[in-house]
Amino acid sequence: MDRLLPYLRVKSGRHVLLWTGLITLIAVGAPVLSLAVPMAMMPRLPSSAFWGTLAIAAAIPLLIAPPISLFALSMLRLLTMTIERVDDYVRYDPLTGVLSRAYLLGQIRERLAVGGVFLMADADRFKSINHTYGHDIGDEALKAVASALRTALGPDALIGRLGGEEFGVFLVGADEARGASAAAAVCAAMREAGAVVADHELRLTISVGCATHRFGRSLEETMKLADQALYEAKHGGRDRYCVAGAPDATPTIVVRTAGRKFRDQPPT
Ligand code: GH3
Ligand code: MG
Ligand code: MG
Repeated sequence: MDRLLPYLRVKSGRHVLLWTGLITLIAVGAPVLSLAVPMAMMPRLPSSAFWGTLAIAAAIPLLIAPPISLFALSMLRLLTMTIERVDDYVRYDPLTGVLSRAYLLGQIRERLAVGGVFLMADADRFKSINHTYGHDIGDEALKAVASALRTALGPDALIGRLGGEEFGVFLVGADEARGASAAAAVCAAMREAGAVVADHELRLTISVGCATHRFGRSLEETMKLADQALYEAKHGGRDRYCVAGAPDATPTIVVRTAGRKFRDQPPT
């Protein structure tokens, strides 16, 4: 039944009418034809009996089929719309429009065999933005983060919100060098998109931890390495990225400083 579901979707009112017409045509045509053919072979059948029988055979399905199929197809359309809404709700983060955490991780798992680079990106000193400008501007700033990620990474990157002001990215098939340049592009795009948000000079920046997924590692292990690299980027002063380089040992952290500090809070 699950496999049938995609084919059972009725996407618009036009489809409801089209299917109702087709079902009515079959419901009327089938009994009329199956009576007309044998009756036509009866030599002494009066024409009034012939046409009368056909009229009754047509009238009954004509009365019953349209309302029942209209009702059933309208219900199917409602179900289709509900499934699509639930799909959207499960797949996308409603605030920023990037993938939800669960859907992102599922999508990454499906592509893990290809390899790639995981980026963990966390907005810098976000609490102070909420505190200074309010939660609504904080929400706008989160949309700016998502927009910076999309701008920097393009349509092929899997981008999702892991929670709060933390985002995860998987660059399918990318190597460490590409991961590092993508992380640098994210920092640069965030500096630009976060300078002014909703007419407020936020100067929002982002820190990124970058880890290459190696064969034999679990996604959780790769994410943990990216998280450690992110921690180093935060510790190193924020608005920068770090790469977890060593495959099996303690990650080698490569820091490239962007050289810009938060306006009113010196980096730790
Ligand atoms: P750091 O640079 O170390 O990451 O500092 P930070 O302030 O960004 O980190 P912290 O984890 O202390 O604070 C994250 C804040 O993000 C706290 C929470 O209020 C805010 N936040 C989480 N989710 C949302 C959201 O959906 N909307 C808004 N406006 N704020 C959120
Ligand atoms: Mg943060
Ligand atoms: Mg955080």
